[in-house]
Formats: sequence, C-alpha cells, structure tokens
Amino acid sequence: MERSVFGAGRARICAVVATPRAKEFRNLLRRALQETTTVELRLDWLANDRERHEALEWLRKFAPRKATFIATCRRRRGGGEFAGGAAEELFWLIRAKEAGCAWCDLEVETMEELRTDSLRGFGLPPKVMLSIHDFRRTPSLPAKLKMTGRGEFAAVKIAAMSRKLSDSTRLLRLARDTDRVVAVPMGEVGLPGRILALREGGALVYAPVAAATAPGQVGLQDLLKLYRAHELTRQTGVYGVIGDPIEHSLSPLLQNIGYVSAKKDAVFLPFLVEELGEFLKMLPEFGVKGFSVTLPHKQKIFRYLDECEPLAEEIGAVNTVTVKKGGKLAGSNTDYVGVFRALQGKIELTGSRVVIFGAGGAARAAAFAVTKAGAEVLVCARREKAAKELARAVGGGVLRRSALRKEKFEALLNATPVGMYPHPASSPLEAGELRCSLVMDLIYRPLETKLLRIARARGIKTVSGVEMFLAQGIAQWELWMKSKAPERAMRTAVLGKLRNEETKFRPT
Ligand code: NAP
Repeated sequence: MERSVFGAGRARICAVVATPRAKEFRNLLRRALQETTTVELRLDWLANDRERHEALEWLRKFAPRKATFIATCRRRRGGGEFAGGAAEELFWLIRAKEAGCAWCDLEVETMEELRTDSLRGFGLPPKVMLSIHDFRRTPSLPAKLKMTGRGEFAAVKIAAMSRKLSDSTRLLRLARDTDRVVAVPMGEVGLPGRILALREGGALVYAPVAAATAPGQVGLQDLLKLYRAHELTRQTGVYGVIGDPIEHSLSPLLQNIGYVSAKKDAVFLPFLVEELGEFLKMLPEFGVKGFSVTLPHKQKIFRYLDECEPLAEEIGAVNTVTVKKGGKLAGSNTDYVGVFRALQGKIELTGSRVVIFGAGGAARAAAFAVTKAGAEVLVCARREKAAKELARAVGGGVLRRSALRKEKFEALLNATPVGMYPHPASSPLEAGELRCSLVMDLIYRPLETKLLRIARARGIKTVSGVEMFLAQGIAQWELWMKSKAPERAMRTAVLGKLRNEETKFRPT
C-alpha cells in the first residue's frame, strides 16, 4: 500500500521531536520539516508545563499549514515521560489542537481510565490514533485487527518488543490490507521489521530527529537516505548481515551507500540473530536474497548450506550466503578476497615469508589468502596447538614468539583483537618484534592501531584492517548485484564514519 491515512511517500515517515527544552523543540521541528511533512511532537518529553506552554505557543504562531502534527503526551503508565494524570494529558492534547495539531496519540491505558465510549466533545484534535505498547514482548495477536468498534480512531498503533524475528512478522501482518494500522516492532531484533514496515503495508514509521524515543529506532536521516524506507517495495532486493552482537556493524552503511550510489533497488539490513535456524525460517517472509555472516555464525552456518564454494570449505568459514532459486543457500568466503586485495600492489607475495599473528577465524582467512598468492605462511600464536593446526591446513610452518626478534620476514599480519577499541593503547607486539617491510593489522577500530603506529615510526609500510573490510564487502556487493561496485562512494562513507567515531572516542 503506497498511501495511508497520513499520505504517500515521505509523508509516511514520521519525524519524532523529543527534547526537554522548548528552544530545542523549535530547532528539531525545523530540521524535521526539511525532510518530511509528518511530525510527532512528544509533549511528554518537555521538562515541565512551562516548556510545554512555550513550545505550543510557538507552534500556534508559526506552524506551517501543510504539515501533519501528531501530539503525544504519553504518561509514565503508557511508557512515556509525562508525570501527570489522564485529565492533564487531555488538557495538553486539547492545547495542541489549538496550536495546529490535526492528530493526537492516545494510549489505551488513558482510554481505560476515561471510561468512555466516545471521545466526541472532549475538544481533542480531530484525528485520534489509539496506541497500544508492550515494551517487554510481542503478545499473541489476532491474524487481523478488527477495526469495527474502533470508529472513533483514525488510526491504531501497536508497538511491541520483538524478541524473535517472527515477532516482527506477526506484528507487521496486522498492517496489511488496511491503510490505518501503524505496526512498530521494537528493540534491536525488531529493527529490520521497522525498516520494512511501510513496504509491508504499515501506515507510518517513526524516526527520531535527535535522541531515540524507543528501543531500536533508526534516526531520520538514516531511515530516509540510507534505508529509503518509503521507497521499498516487494520488488526491492532485501539483503543483510547476521550476527550477535550486530549493533556496530558497518556493513549496512557500506552496502546501502553502494545501492544508493549505483541506484540499485535493494536494501541491506542488520539482523541481530541469536538462533540461526529461526532466522533461516524467516528468509522467505522477508524475501532475503543474500546475507553476510559474522560472529558467532561463520562456522555454524555450514550445516544449513545446500552448496559451498570449495575454498570456503577449506578455510572452514563462510561470511557470505546467497539465496538461490527455490530458497537454496550457497556459501562463500570474501574475507579471503579481502585480505588478498588489501595487500595487492603493496607487497609481492609470491615467494615471500609472511607471519600471521593469531590463529582464530580471521587468521585462517588471511593464511589461506597469502598462501594462495604464493607466500610461505608462518603462524605465531599463544596456543601452540592452534598454530600447528592452522600451519598444517595451509602447508606452512609454526613460529615461536622469540623468533620474531631474530628472523626477518616480508610481512606480518596481526589477526588478534589486541589493540581494538576499547583498548587502543595496547599493541600485540613490541617494536623489536617487527622485523619486516610491511605490517597489516586486521583491526579497523581504530583505523590506525598502536601496532601500526609503532610500525610506521620504524619506517615500515602499514595496511589498516579497513582495507580488508572494504574489499570483502565490495566483493559481496558485486556477487549479489552482478555489477561493478561504486567503490569510491562506499570507501568514503565507511572512512568518514570511522573517523567520526574516533573524534568522539578520543580522550580529551
Ligand atoms: P578469534 O577467532 O577469536 O581469534 C582471535 C585470535 O587472537 C586467537 O588466536 C586468540 O588466541 C588470539 N588472541 C586473543 N587475545 C590474544 C592476546 N592477548 N595475545 C595473543 N593472542 C591473542 O577472532 P577473529 O574473528 O579471528 O578476529 C580477530 C581480529 O580480526 C579481530 O580484531 C577482528 O576485529 C579482526 N577482523 C577483521 C576483519 C576485517 O574485515 N578487517 C574481519 C574479521 C576479523 P586464543 O585462541 O588463545 O584465544
């Protein structure tokens, strides 16, 4: 459904203005109106009655007529910030109507307290949206929401915490075949459902202009420009990344920027997946065509695959799954390509000696990549057994840590997490252990690790893990889109985000 009671296109994206101060309220509202014509005004977030009065006075004088304002003064009982009772809530909603709000949101708890069947005569905004929240779980729901008997309400909103992906799909089903149900799957698990809500027939999707007002919300800019929630249709290719945790994954940014830049009708979503089987059952429901696999599922995914690239089998890890005709799952590994491309042009691998420090999952992909490129791999890890196993798998050797100070190598790759945020002051190795012409750190948070700084100070060429991250993601993009990726736009977006994070984290 491309149109709902709130309008079409961007009008179905509702910017949420939520702040304690009236002055900031005005700023956020101005920002919201640059992007959409539907705005929820969270009167309950304003610090006190004086701020509410000031904000509404300003709205009354300056409210643009074209915009649709939804006034909300949610009480604590309904999960909001307003400390007053039902009568005070109504007071502020009536004032909001006088200030130009055509809509208001009224919680089911308030309706129960009012003990009335009709809201006529209360002086509320002409359109009332009944809202039902469950911040703990998604309760059992009817297959279809009966709108009869709800004639008083111009729309019904149901917001419920998703604990499983199937909770989101159950909730979204309620929004089908009607233009006035707002279905809001909450929490991090519910995030993909929130982004797809309009495609599934939801009347509205909420996005905060500044601070999030509910768990798992996506900011207004990202919802509009990165995920393009209002443009997604049943024809849009759905892709994603699965993992646990997934919150800090940069893959959604990387892949979506690529789609936007190359004008692809596709979207890439972050799926918080605890249980693989449950996610895989949901693939047809969401129409997923491919997904990246990250920790802790890179090995576990094997048993669900119908086919697998021999190299991924050899490495023993899959980071890319393509959903083929009939729902068949094909696995591959682009981490391997990532390491290879990150080093390409920076060192002649053929005939060289490369130390891999660490023997975990990423070390395996790195060891296979450099071996296939013609290098001799020497694995150095704190657990000798793990080092031996990896060395055997690639036909390389094992190196004791003490040998690092004595022997010379062409390259050294750090595949341990030592030096990653939140411990950027640590280095897995000391200056005297870097007797090589190139050091690559697989870590990309921070972009330049302590290890790379030490190497650079010694005049050694350095490669950041972001090169591997970019290359593995670009390889996935090209595999799924079957065309050349807009590399420059993807690189700029990811580097920009990482640099921005670093300025925030930098100690003052
Ligand atoms: P993993 O499977 O847990 O392996 C980690 C390895 O590091 C293990 O060999 C572990 O040894 C070793 N290790 C951990 N702490 C150590 C310490 N204090 N001293 C010495 N060795 C230590 O992790 P992974 O998935 O391979 O990831 C490793 C790193 O690569 C992470 O920082 C990750 O962010 C990065 N990575 C980057 C990319 C990219 O695209 N750039 C992709 C994947 C991974 P034990 O077995 O003895 O614990």
